[in-house]
Amino acid sequence: MILPEKVTEAASVIAQQEVAPDVFRMELSSPAITELAKPGQFVQVRILNGDHILRRPLGIAECDRTRGTFSLFYRIVGSGTRDLSLLVHGENVNVLGPLGHGFDVSFQHPLLVGGGMGLSPLLSYAQAKRGACDILMGGKNAGELFWQSFYAPYVEKTILTTDDGSLGSHGFTTTVFPDIVKQETYDGVLVCGPEIMMRGIARLAKAAGLPCQVSLEKRMACGLGACLSCSIDTVNGARKKVCKDGPVFWAEEVFA
Ligand SMILES: Cc1cc2nc3c(=O)[nH]c(=O)nc-3n(C[C@H](O)[C@H](O)[C@H](O)COP(=O)(O)OP(=O)(O)OC[C@H]3O[C@@H](n4cnc5c(N)ncnc54)[C@H](O)[C@@H]3O)c2cc1C
Repeated sequence: MILPEKVTEAASVIAQQEVAPDVFRMELSSPAITELAKPGQFVQVRILNGDHILRRPLGIAECDRTRGTFSLFYRIVGSGTRDLSLLVHGENVNVLGPLGHGFDVSFQHPLLVGGGMGLSPLLSYAQAKRGACDILMGGKNAGELFWQSFYAPYVEKTILTTDDGSLGSHGFTTTVFPDIVKQETYDGVLVCGPEIMMRGIARLAKAAGLPCQVSLEKRMACGLGACLSCSIDTVNGARKKVCKDGPVFWAEEVFA
């Protein structure tokens, strides 16, 4: 049987929890998308209260294939994510996915580097590779590193940095990266977070001779490569669509 690459599916809310101020984890029952999802892919969520014409893109965080559920982590930044946070157990959204190209899963021992909501799609990679990855996560303060407990079952080592020094090393992920990659034998680096962080890590990975993938975020409408609203210029001048060609790209393709 040939499986479709993506589907639309009515998905009911199985769990919804505020895991940090204005950051929510939502678990959705969505067996078809859960079955198809690969690490680093995303879904387009339609909120069904009639107030939102466009779907909202969110990275798939964890998949439970036995139960047919996947989780999303999202921060409230506007009306769509606010309305999403109001949904309770048993209510429905409509999801389109899984969308885009995810991370290269052929690495044997990669270092994941994440900040902010970028730690959400990286979690799907850690889950898929169970124990093969280390995670370097950065946040403004200790509160932003609530992600530790979600990564703990899946990673070998967790390295933390905070801008204010309240947890882990004082500084940014870029501060500690050069020493970390000297101490361990990694075969790749996968990054998702603020662009300044991804650019910095990509530059340092290149200097260390490590292949590096970055997951880009761009405002998008359709998520299917049709509307072109998420088009970007790549280093060689070719236009690419973050939704369809990405969101994951090799760093040298998108960062000069
Ligand atoms: C491929 C992809 C995956 C994503 N995964 C996640 C995720 O896992 N968790 C998560 O919290 N967010 C994620 N986002 C961002 C998320 O889609 C937006 O925050 C959300 O659509 C905002 O909807 P809203 O109606 O609440 O806010 P809106 O009213 O649409 O926007 C409010 C403000 O949020 C900012 N904003 C909105 N969309 C984006 C965007 N795409 N990039 C940067 N800033 C934006 C803008 O400053 C805007 O003014 C992802 C985006 C993309 C493109």
